[in-house]
Amino acid sequence: MAKATAKTEPRRGRDAESIKWGFAEHLKYTLGVDRYSTEDYKRFMALSYAVRDRLINQWLLTQRTHHNKGAKRVYYLSLEFLMGRAMGNNVINMGIEDEVRDAMAELGYDWEELREQETDAGLGNGGLGRLAACFLDSMATLDLPAFGYGLRYDYGIFRQGIENGFQVEHPDDWLRQGNPWEIERPDITVPVRFGGHVITVEENGRLIHKWIDAEEVQGVAYDTPIVGYGGKTVNTLRLWSARSGEEFDFQRFNDGEYVEAVADKVAAENLTKVLYPNDTLYLGKELRLKQQYLFVACSLWDILRRFKKSGKDWSELPDMAAIQLNDTHPSLAVPELMRLLMDEEGLGWDQAWDITVKTLGYTNHTLMPEALEKWPVHMLEKLLPRHLQIIYKINHDFLQEVAINFPGQAERLRTMSLIEEGDSKMIRMAYLSIVGSHSTNGVAALHTELLKERLVPEFAEMYPDRFNNKTNGITQRRFLLKANPELSKLITDTIGDEWITDFAQLKKLAPYAKDKAFQKKFLKVKEQCKIRLAETIERETGWKLDTDTLFDVQIKRIHEYKRQLLNALHIIMLYNRIRKGEDVVPRTFLIGGKAAPGYKMAKLIIKLINNLSKVINKDPAVRDKLRVYFPPNYRVSLAEKMFPATDVSEQISTSGTEASGTGNMKFMANGAITLGTLDGANIEIREEAGDENCVIFGLTATEVNDLRPTYNPYKYYEENEEIKEALDLLFSGHFNFGEPGLFDPIKELLFEKGDFYMHLADLQSYADAHRKIDELYRNRSKWAEMAILNIANAGKFSSDRTISQYAEDIWGVKPCPIEYNLDQAETLDEAKAQE
Ligand SMILES: *Cc1c(COP(=O)(O)O)cnc(C)c1O
Repeated sequence: MAKATAKTEPRRGRDAESIKWGFAEHLKYTLGVDRYSTEDYKRFMALSYAVRDRLINQWLLTQRTHHNKGAKRVYYLSLEFLMGRAMGNNVINMGIEDEVRDAMAELGYDWEELREQETDAGLGNGGLGRLAACFLDSMATLDLPAFGYGLRYDYGIFRQGIENGFQVEHPDDWLRQGNPWEIERPDITVPVRFGGHVITVEENGRLIHKWIDAEEVQGVAYDTPIVGYGGKTVNTLRLWSARSGEEFDFQRFNDGEYVEAVADKVAAENLTKVLYPNDTLYLGKELRLKQQYLFVACSLWDILRRFKKSGKDWSELPDMAAIQLNDTHPSLAVPELMRLLMDEEGLGWDQAWDITVKTLGYTNHTLMPEALEKWPVHMLEKLLPRHLQIIYKINHDFLQEVAINFPGQAERLRTMSLIEEGDSKMIRMAYLSIVGSHSTNGVAALHTELLKERLVPEFAEMYPDRFNNKTNGITQRRFLLKANPELSKLITDTIGDEWITDFAQLKKLAPYAKDKAFQKKFLKVKEQCKIRLAETIERETGWKLDTDTLFDVQIKRIHEYKRQLLNALHIIMLYNRIRKGEDVVPRTFLIGGKAAPGYKMAKLIIKLINNLSKVINKDPAVRDKLRVYFPPNYRVSLAEKMFPATDVSEQISTSGTEASGTGNMKFMANGAITLGTLDGANIEIREEAGDENCVIFGLTATEVNDLRPTYNPYKYYEENEEIKEALDLLFSGHFNFGEPGLFDPIKELLFEKGDFYMHLADLQSYADAHRKIDELYRNRSKWAEMAILNIANAGKFSSDRTISQYAEDIWGVKPCPIEYNLDQAETLDEAKAQE
């Protein structure tokens, strides 16, 4: 059968000619603009629509296949999806990049420039949201029947500006110019209730709980296609947007309260207005709880509606649906699923509970106490009275089980209770998630161990079979194939292209690590990537990076536990060394990331880095050896340019604090050397790459724990001349620029407040590690060998591996490839005949 062409199928043909036509038609008939008088964004939109057209058939086919085959589906519930841009990824996964490039070139446009028009979809804070996005790519590529469910925030993560070295937040109005990838589904609108109260009535000899007098809002579905590599399976990301329940409250309208009635409508629609910009911090805001419930209620309603169409008995729900909770943010799924099964569908408690536990799985993402969600009982009482009743009953049954399992241990009833007693009673959402699901997983080997040993030891003892590890991963399609075309070509030219869907194939590169010709090619690629990044940064900031220097990069959310301050303190030490005439390898430090708007210390650390940059970069005594830059507004699209250009990957969190990290994996796959602590997935990176191909420093998680009771940061200052000199320089005001006392809170943090993240304990060992990096980098051939071995051993860190393990161990879902390919149809008639 011939491929579809422009003449036969203008919306499906994948040749350059058809794409050209599709583009021209959308420019004119969808956007209503003239080809000769239009702006770049309109052209980007037209091309997006043309690309989207070419996804629609596979999208519909995928849904039909999953339905026809009665396939079990995965539902990935996440309050964050940090998607970044869609255009490049869609085109690459569909295998039409050359055709799109040619089509645009024939019209006189540059594909690389057009795709730069796209606004990042920044519906997440950092690692957790990006993980959800990588998982969507892997699930589609592995042909798994899957839905991502989330919220369609009008404003995603803020845009970071830097003024006088300080972070300023600007609203991220990402939908302003239109989002060409989504399709609104007004027919899929879900009623959601808040408030009111519960009455118990007897009907046919049964007690029925009725939730009455609640206010109603609605969630409207917006769907985005998620195409897997190879262009076969197209899954769905379904995001909910809040609408007011009733257009007008007619009573109030008649009473003349027109404006008040409309204002209520606006209040309801504010529910999905903005993403909370806090990474690993729980705030306890009522609006956030309402977001979580709207999200869970809409998603479960939709999942149960789809199940009911199968006509199966409720006992079969766990065979048809696996629902994964990305952290506790969607943990209201436990009482909501119970409520739906009992109050709406009439099941008894025991059967509903059995189904709920079998259907849900929970992923824990952090051990940090300030991140653990605990909703006040009074807040649930007011907003979700029926859910509170259900949680109390779950807790009652659970504590009875505890009492039976651990007789005579009354203390356990207090420590394990889902309700924390105190001035204000709180619901421990992590405990609720563990009890209400059949699987609890951590996100790296060390994290899972610490989860079991330190965070919830009593739960691990009671339910040993529920706990398991799923080390995080990243999609190589975005972070290597798309982000680093030069390196991808070198790899494919050397070992073939199977690594794109089977990352373990990278192992075949290992024999080339010592090959001088291959090393040269690798180093050349690295240089090209540095030049490309330098061009981007110059365009955005005007700074001119020196691409002949070593690029040392730390990009991630700014947080005390991630220790950007350790990086800054070492830079001051290096500054002193250079001023004293020490010969060092010329370096460019790049540090980027957003701080939560209310996180004062993180924002002060940004200011410190920017002031270091200001002093160092223009000091003629050091500027040839040392530069420091803080590229503003770190986000997925910038990340994609930074990973490929990096020589040294900074992964320097206090051991035991970083659950996994995924930035560390993106660097590794792009041939950067990890300079890191034995924390999170760094441990597994070292295991894979080999100790000799990483530079590891600092205390281990056990050592951190053992030292903590007696830790005295002042000792490290007193007893180490070089550390003392660096801190004295910092606190002398050398980097203050006429703002006296500016960095006093950092002094307090390190001394008076006891340096909780142990910067000073690790600083000497960190400085020594940097010296080792210098030594290694001076031998460029040896350096290239190490970097190549890192790439060759990055196979484990594909999210394809992670997702295969979830599918096998937790979800029990199998690949379900589409049945036939409509794109092969030659004519519309033939396509219709197939349908
Ligand atoms: C990968 C990624 C992260 C996570 O980085 P970590 O170093 O693991 O914290 C955060 N933000 C963006 C934009 C990313 O791409």
